[in-house]
Amino acid sequence: LKIVSADFVKGATKASQYPGEGLPEFAFFGRSNVGKSSLINMLVNRKTLVKTGSRPGMTRVINFFRINQTFMLADLPGYGYAQRSAKENEDFDRMLAEYASNRSDLRTLFFLMDLRRVPGETEKNTIEYFERLGLEVVIVGTKADKLSNNEIAKSVRAIAAYCNRTPDMVPVSSADKKTGRDVILRMIEDRCRS
Ligand code: GDP
Repeated sequence: LKIVSADFVKGATKASQYPGEGLPEFAFFGRSNVGKSSLINMLVNRKTLVKTGSRPGMTRVINFFRINQTFMLADLPGYGYAQRSAKENEDFDRMLAEYASNRSDLRTLFFLMDLRRVPGETEKNTIEYFERLGLEVVIVGTKADKLSNNEIAKSVRAIAAYCNRTPDMVPVSSADKKTGRDVILRMIEDRCRS
């Protein structure tokens, strides 16, 4: 898949603001600092389409990007900021639920997990929540460059087992080493066709 164009469309906090272009959409989600912005930039070959290392605590929105005029990427806000207030957490949960349950163009949700971090109940419950809505969730293990090949394999096995998947269902990526790009883009391409 060759990326010809990648354009920021808009940011939205509620369904009435989502872009209505009807293109197949792929969402990216994960704990803050998991490497989501870096991964999206790597996928679309843009250094700064998504700002990396964005400040915690600021008002978060869902950012929509149009790629090649053929599909959309949705950058969902990260979870797990310690500095968030109860009200902010509530708004976050509501925004996510509204998106996941209303976005009919959404094909697949890429759930990013740092390979060095063991997923917990939060991750498991969130995946189950999305799947109950009928969404496909693909776990992506990030920052693979921080681990040896053995450690990567071990981590993928652990993540997959905990999240009821087989290891081959969990692609790994490194924005630093530019790995994982082809696999993820191929998944998107396949899902655009079907
Ligand atoms: P986000 O908060 O999930 O959007 O994460 P960012 O993309 O902003 O990355 C958070 C931090 O992790 C930054 O310091 C990045 O440079 C670093 N980072 C992101 N991806 C990788 C990666 O693949 N390998 C390594 N070693 N660091 C990464």
